Amino acid sequence: MAQRNELLREELLYGRIAINFANAKTHEEAINNLNDSIREIHEIPRNLKIRKSSAKSVQKDQNKIKELLEDLIKQDHLYNVSLIHDYILCYNFTCKPFLDVQEDGSISEIPLFHDQKSTDHDTFIAYCLVNFLKSDISIKRKHILKCNMCKDFFISKKIDERTKYCPICSYKNKMSKEERSKHDKKKRLEKKLEKKEKLTPEQEKQIERMMSTGHTREQALEYIKLDMNEDYSTDRSPSN
Ligand SMILES: [Zn+2]
Repeated sequence: MAQRNELLREELLYGRIAINFANAKTHEEAINNLNDSIREIHEIPRNLKIRKSSAKSVQKDQNKIKELLEDLIKQDHLYNVSLIHDYILCYNFTCKPFLDVQEDGSISEIPLFHDQKSTDHDTFIAYCLVNFLKSDISIKRKHILKCNMCKDFFISKKIDERTKYCPICSYKNKMSKEERSKHDKKKRLEKKLEKKEKLTPEQEKQIERMMSTGHTREQALEYIKLDMNEDYSTDRSPSN
């Protein structure tokens, strides 16, 4: 059978949940991301909640995942990726579906998180990570990448050796030099307008002209902003 080079929807989802947890900038963001993602996994009850946890404990687990992802990318032999063993152990003790007698008298597996109202973030992360990596781990790890620009981890649906930047950074990278300089100029102007810092003499003159025809300063500033947007939107959009 030919090796598959594209992740399935579920696999992509499990991988992204773990990676978004690692990339979150605050511990609140990390936990909120997990709570939002629960709704996307159909075998998990939608009302399950991730318990609140201290910043220290969340950060510790974020660093742990980062270390694992780093190792998955770098290590030649998977057995040397020591943290995989940790997550599998955690999965075996906290996430593995167990057998029970059902209402109809049969003995079968109880779905995980079946009658739980809440769970810890590390249990949920172990669940997602193991589900992501449990089959074809040597292939799966090729989908894990680290952005050359922002240094966040990300997951690509298809394996492509040329991918160097995460989706957020790559849009900017696809721009030509001219497009990029216009993009940066627009961003700088937006920042200035927000802070109401000094504008260029030409822009100040434009504002004066508009105010002399009955516009307020705010309206004139808004106009300059729109003008820049217009200028920008006529650019050739970067190809994919
Ligand atoms: Zn990036």
